[in-house]
Amino acid sequence: MNLIEKGTKYCTSLTEYKRRETISVNIGDLWMGSQYPIRIQSMTTIDTMDTIGSVEQTLRMVESGCELVRITAPSVKEAQNLENIRKELRNRGCNVPLVADIHFTPNAAELAARLVEKVRINPGNYADKKRFETIDYTESSYQAELERIRDKFVPLIKICKEYGTAMRIGTNHGSLSDRILSRYGDTPLGMVESALEFLRICEDENYFNIVLSMKASNTQVMVEAYRLLCKKLDEEGLKPYPLHLGVTEAGEGEDGRIKSAVGIGTLLEDGLGDTVRVSLTEDPEFEAPVAKSLIDRYTHRAESTTVIPAWKPANTELSEAFDSPINPFQHFRRATNEVAVFGGHNVPRVIADYSQVGINEHDDLKPIGHFYLPATDKWAMNDLGADFVYTGQRPSTFMLPMGLKEIVDYKIWLEKNCPENLFPMISFEEISDNVKTHNSLNFIAVNIDNLKPELISSLSSLRDAVLIISTNNTHGMPALRRFFFELISQEIKLPVVIWRQYDAMSTSDFQLFSATDLGGLLVDGLGDGAILSVPQNTPASEFQGLAKIYNSTAFGILQAARTRMSKTEYISCPSCGRTLFDLQETTAMIRKRTDHLKGVKIGIMGCIVNGPGEMADADYGYVGIGKDKIALYRGQQVVKKSVHADRAVDELIELIKEDGVWFEPAQSAELADML
Ligand code: SF4
Repeated sequence: MNLIEKGTKYCTSLTEYKRRETISVNIGDLWMGSQYPIRIQSMTTIDTMDTIGSVEQTLRMVESGCELVRITAPSVKEAQNLENIRKELRNRGCNVPLVADIHFTPNAAELAARLVEKVRINPGNYADKKRFETIDYTESSYQAELERIRDKFVPLIKICKEYGTAMRIGTNHGSLSDRILSRYGDTPLGMVESALEFLRICEDENYFNIVLSMKASNTQVMVEAYRLLCKKLDEEGLKPYPLHLGVTEAGEGEDGRIKSAVGIGTLLEDGLGDTVRVSLTEDPEFEAPVAKSLIDRYTHRAESTTVIPAWKPANTELSEAFDSPINPFQHFRRATNEVAVFGGHNVPRVIADYSQVGINEHDDLKPIGHFYLPATDKWAMNDLGADFVYTGQRPSTFMLPMGLKEIVDYKIWLEKNCPENLFPMISFEEISDNVKTHNSLNFIAVNIDNLKPELISSLSSLRDAVLIISTNNTHGMPALRRFFFELISQEIKLPVVIWRQYDAMSTSDFQLFSATDLGGLLVDGLGDGAILSVPQNTPASEFQGLAKIYNSTAFGILQAARTRMSKTEYISCPSCGRTLFDLQETTAMIRKRTDHLKGVKIGIMGCIVNGPGEMADADYGYVGIGKDKIALYRGQQVVKKSVHADRAVDELIELIKEDGVWFEPAQSAELADML
């Protein structure tokens, strides 16, 4: 086994919950860092020149749980108005620290740093205008560039020091400077270097009141960049600054929550993160409760768990918390053998768990994306059609559609004389040398908490088997990850499906927690499928409704972790004072027309200043450029410069059609009704 050497260290422990130790930073009266609770923040969406509107929105955000509030300051005029907003807030008895959000305008930053508690700068555009040029730097011309940045940046540092103002150096994947892109490419390393160029200048000037962020819309890139940042700070002897966590342009509703949790939750599990901003295309007061649900999970995590699991053999190579057989800075899928449609190069599979209620009628399968059409006596499936259904001891009473395979408990499978069209779920304890198994696909259920160390190696002798792993450990993601590490270290290449079940909770919490627990593994290439079970003892009348949510959450997590694209992805900005159209309404309109385009990524951005950069990952872009004026993009290329908003969605669809990517959402009227 090739262990990645010492260089994998990016957090305090991969198996126990421990916050990464940081210095403390003060933002007005609010302290941030590992000595303090993880802070919640968000950003206003109203025009910064609307003083009372900004104040009232800020008050609503504070009421909903925000501990600091960011407000955009695109020019000196808005920066100046922060003073009025702050004064009015203080008059109304609200002392929440304010953060000025700055892009491109050092003069606005220098003014804001005198007026509010913190400024956020984007190192990609503080000293650079975007020209989309690739530049060949020599060592000396690169150094000259750094000197140029220093000259522009030092005045702000001096003001921050004088006024006691904090700063966030906030890198965005989508807005790296031409200089960084030319040297490092569009990579996590480029994101980290982008911040470090500015951070080194701060340290040279003895200014340390700094928070760092590495946001991206792509969760894999985002997670890797934060981890790499921690490692680089350590290696360079820079201070361990607090981290502000966020996924940019996460979107709205279920998708936005799941994507945020996959990125932010994965890092929180490893003790990274001192403040969280969840960016949703919704009113900002809806963001803080989501952030709170994410971070509250860790309030007592350290006391409740130690997860070097009992099955760990005494003398394995993986004896230290930091030994890791995977590269945490670059996504690779764990190598597995292909077993039926699992592992190898297959996309991760979704298994619906119907063992509580069984399948009795055709309509029982609707929640998991399979639809019976009586008129034609055929089945249809939508993009979220589950691949397998586990019915336990309640096998289906009719023949299932072709696209859905059934798994039953081993006992039932034997009783039915081992049919080819059913697949057995065999508990690890039921396995012995002479047990009869299916000749192509067997599911072996393993609760890793009960697994004796000496038995792990016996897994390697299993043939035609997919492991279904679960845990009751509160620190579940790292516990399961530790098990994956053991499989890798013992070169056991069976595909693995991750099985999670939660107590009854709100839909939003379920989406956040399951996305954290599964996403944290999937972003590291661990896992070949997912089962999310509806809570035990759910009343039968509620089962179908929950099954639908759980199924779509499973697909949503796979998509957010970028391991299986089953729906259109909307990279929509959360909107701010720069926004030029109603983002929520427009996103809903675009979604209505395009959400059958599986795998297509559409960026919907409120302004031209940051929009094109922020949607770096999108296939198509819809960007506000003025009142009722929209620019349409193909990838990073603007192709329709100024389209009236009334026609912009039609023109976007035309563009997709020109590329041959469009297809009509053509189902039979009967099916369309059902969907
Ligand atoms: S892209 Fe959206 S959130 Fe970002 S600055 Fe523009 S309007 Fe504001």
